[in-house]
Amino acid sequence: MESIADKVLQGQRLTREEGIFLYRSHDLLTLGELARRQKKEKSGSYVFFNVNRHINLSNVCHARCQFCAFGRDQEDPGAYLMTVEEAFQFGAEAVPFGITEFHIVSALHPDMGLDYYLEIISRLHEAFPSIHIQAFSAAEIVHFTRISGLAPEEVLKKLQAAGLASLPGGGAEILKDDLRQKICPNKASSEEWLEVHRVAHKLGMKTNCTMLYGHLESIEDRIDHLLQLRRLQDESPGFKAFIPLPFLPDNTGLEHIRRTSAVDDIKTIAISRLMLDNIDHVKAFWIMLGLPVAQISLEFGADDLDGTVIEERIMHAAGVETKKGITQDELIQWIRQAGYIPVERDTVYNILQKYES
Ligand code: SF4
Repeated sequence: MESIADKVLQGQRLTREEGIFLYRSHDLLTLGELARRQKKEKSGSYVFFNVNRHINLSNVCHARCQFCAFGRDQEDPGAYLMTVEEAFQFGAEAVPFGITEFHIVSALHPDMGLDYYLEIISRLHEAFPSIHIQAFSAAEIVHFTRISGLAPEEVLKKLQAAGLASLPGGGAEILKDDLRQKICPNKASSEEWLEVHRVAHKLGMKTNCTMLYGHLESIEDRIDHLLQLRRLQDESPGFKAFIPLPFLPDNTGLEHIRRTSAVDDIKTIAISRLMLDNIDHVKAFWIMLGLPVAQISLEFGADDLDGTVIEERIMHAAGVETKKGITQDELIQWIRQAGYIPVERDTVYNILQKYES
């Protein structure tokens, strides 16, 4: 731990073996101290949040990943699909609440063509040009390439022309193909996921990246996943934030697996901060972590609590007990109580307002 601490203090990059060592270590407080130091170098005493509206267009999905509680077959009870008009209205009704982002992610619907998605993006963009549209995980973009026969670059260019501004980080799960064959065999491969982000960065889009942990993967798989993200960011920078997502077993095909512990969640935040020295922001996604763990993780390297969200369906299908959205005042209080300065940001981390006192 001392030699790792020395390297961190000297700004040197940690190796695979050092990342694995950190996961196996029980010295949580030293880990937290190192991660906090890194966080402060990137964002000082600020902790970011944004005010967004999540729009989940449909839960009908042909992929049916083992870890997912959201996807349904078309004939299942509870299956739904928003029309273009419904999606537009759902977004529009949140605009008076001061949102700065539409965050649109969905299932891989077997029948909807690319035009459906393009129309939703362009309707929202034309009506609300100042609201940033972050939409469609790389797994969805790969799905769009399959249904349209177009290359990722062509799909992204069409979406960009319609008003898409950035990509969220979902669908990465663990970037290891033999594991993906077990947990999500019908969606993008590791290389396909990476390629979408590579192309998006080349087209000038910012994106986020994630890791779904706490299912069938090993500690080594987690570190290898982080190293792949670090390598892509070196090669083709564009990731704004990394978001570790704990697997939520309820109502999934892996229900026998126990939910990750708070220690694992906090360690994962801290190790991500230390391994991903070239990604500026690490997000504690409160919807999945729960607000108390998310708040504590601010002392372990996280510098973002995500957004006020307003209403979210995907994680709640997996039994999360957090509220479907919280107000801006509540988020500000959670950040202040942890001793940080709440900062409202836009999607790509431009500062909109600081709440210094
Ligand atoms: S994780 Fe996404 S792709 Fe997989 S079943 Fe759920 S909605 Fe479908």
